Amino acid sequence: MEKKEFKAESRRLLEMMVNSIYSQREIFLRELISNASDAIDKMYYKALTDDAIEFNADDFFIKVSFDKEARTIEVKDTGIGMTKEEMETNLGTIAESGSLAFKKDNEIEDGHDIIGQFGVGFYSSFMVAKEVVVETLAHGSDQAYRWTSDGIDGYTIEESDKKKQPGTRITLKLKEAADEDDSFDEFLSEHRLRTIIKKYSDFIRYPIKLDVTKQ
Ligand code: ADP
Ligand code: MG
Repeated sequence: MEKKEFKAESRRLLEMMVNSIYSQREIFLRELISNASDAIDKMYYKALTDDAIEFNADDFFIKVSFDKEARTIEVKDTGIGMTKEEMETNLGTIAESGSLAFKKDNEIEDGHDIIGQFGVGFYSSFMVAKEVVVETLAHGSDQAYRWTSDGIDGYTIEESDKKKQPGTRITLKLKEAADEDDSFDEFLSEHRLRTIIKKYSDFIRYPIKLDVTKQ
């Protein structure tokens, strides 16, 4: 198993996000759904332009589920997936983040103003998660991979035999509550997740299925 470190810039943005105020944490779901939708767009376009790929519009969807006992939230898509190299470059660094550049330019002391308004991306998962696992199989590949990170030190990538269909499954293991008023368990609720999806992801053009079977 390979262990890699995050770049310095990534660490800084991460720190800023992790210390964001409670009310902004909910946008992690907006970011994950947005990425899922982008990945499906890519797959959809490929399928449309390549006669060799048979497809059905029903095959393209995003599934959000949660497990109260395990304290996990999962976002799964039937998008294009990522190769090992793509995971390294796309998930290993957030130096390109527009949010960080904005922060620098405007000398804002903390991330509170930015997080709600700008796309902060995949790393916003670490506002609510103590561990994030990304399992993905790229379209056209037969080897799936699993990326795991605590958002602090770095990440590992290993082969996975769990994923059989192209696409990506992201599992967030929620943080423990710091105290009574600062609990992450609020997200383990059908109503709460549905409200967040409605608030930020209503315009997404693929079905977002909220699976409540494990709640
Ligand atoms: P952005 O969406 O602005 O590019 P993110 O931090 O949200 O930045 O995501 C970084 C990159 O990781 C994406 O551009 C994409 O290449 C990859 N990625 C993230 N989530 C997925 C996903 N569900 N499927 C495929 N690729 C993904
Ligand atoms: Mg994104």
